[in-house]
Amino acid sequence: MTSPQIELEHVDKHYGHFHALKDINLEIGKGRFVALVGPSGCGKSTLLRSLAGLESITGGIMKIAGETMNGVPPRRRDVAMVFQSYALYPHMTVKENLTYSMRLKRKSREERDKAAKEVAEITGLGNLLDRYPRELSGGQRQRVAMGRAIIRHPKAFLFDEPLSNLDAALRVHMRKEIRALHDRLGATSVYVTHDQVEAMTMADHVVVMREGVIEQAGAPLDLYDHPANRFVAGFIGSPAMNFVEATTTEAGDAVVLEGFDGAVLPLGIKLAPGRRVVAGLRPEHLLLGAPDKSAIRIGVGVVEFTGAASYLSSAGEPELTVFHAGRTEVRPGEAVGLTIAPQHVHLFDPETGRRVE
Ligand code: ATP
Repeated sequence: MTSPQIELEHVDKHYGHFHALKDINLEIGKGRFVALVGPSGCGKSTLLRSLAGLESITGGIMKIAGETMNGVPPRRRDVAMVFQSYALYPHMTVKENLTYSMRLKRKSREERDKAAKEVAEITGLGNLLDRYPRELSGGQRQRVAMGRAIIRHPKAFLFDEPLSNLDAALRVHMRKEIRALHDRLGATSVYVTHDQVEAMTMADHVVVMREGVIEQAGAPLDLYDHPANRFVAGFIGSPAMNFVEATTTEAGDAVVLEGFDGAVLPLGIKLAPGRRVVAGLRPEHLLLGAPDKSAIRIGVGVVEFTGAASYLSSAGEPELTVFHAGRTEVRPGEAVGLTIAPQHVHLFDPETGRRVE
């Protein structure tokens, strides 16, 4: 285990009566890329801004590189924030934007020029040093914002939805660039996003938040394979997991789905008989088959093609979404069968939402 670069112990944040962060505990090792992800209002930006010192916390301890940061002003925390809005100075050239923090520290022109050149090389801004922000594309501006953070050699990079303003293709490209930069610099990064795909693809540790609480933290594929509760199961994965109410059979080794003419799905585990559960079925784990040879039969409502894949939605309630890699001949109005392997059936408690193992 690498030494923790960031430690949060029992962190609480109140805005007046509103409890925005509730007993947050998190350790981020040096060199890790951690994504904070969750729906709007879950507190991820508040957590990041608290790390940067832009918000004060109302309880708990926050440490960076072993030093307690409670009460330490932002400029003395030695962290660099990268924002969605880039926050570049419009009247300064790329070079001046990059080296602004060095000017404040009264570094010589020589030192500044050398650092600007180095960072421009790392970020691919070599030919653009004399341009003004208005003369740059969105992706280039984002690189300047990154470069400005890199030049400070901070103890951690804090990203607040940095790619939200970019179009889809550039976002995918910048995702890889940011991750590659992180690796090359051996940096420690905390990355806030509401986009679970961004979190899953960029981070080596994903923290899923809801209503000020960490619901689950772990490696991306662990969250996908073993979501701790129904919320995480529904949040991680695209298209989202299907949920169907179900009851275990007499033998306890299968569930009967509600609303599918008594469809029975074998389980990889044994539970008490007659137990009510919620079955979680990922769209990509539902395999199309002949209606008379499959566990589940559905009437097809909608079929969508993206070229590489097809998405089917059932006509009835509860609605099921099916992801089919490649094309299908199935059309709306037809009946199809679906099967799913026992190990792919997730089960959750209907009351608590917790995973049933
Ligand atoms: P988003 O993705 O929409 O930015 P978020 O997960 O980053 O959401 P935060 O910005 O951290 O959410 O806000 C968490 C909660 O705290 C929200 O319910 C928000 O309304 C509330 N909040 C944030 N800032 C303040 C403030 N200054 N005063 C009162 N409440 C606030």
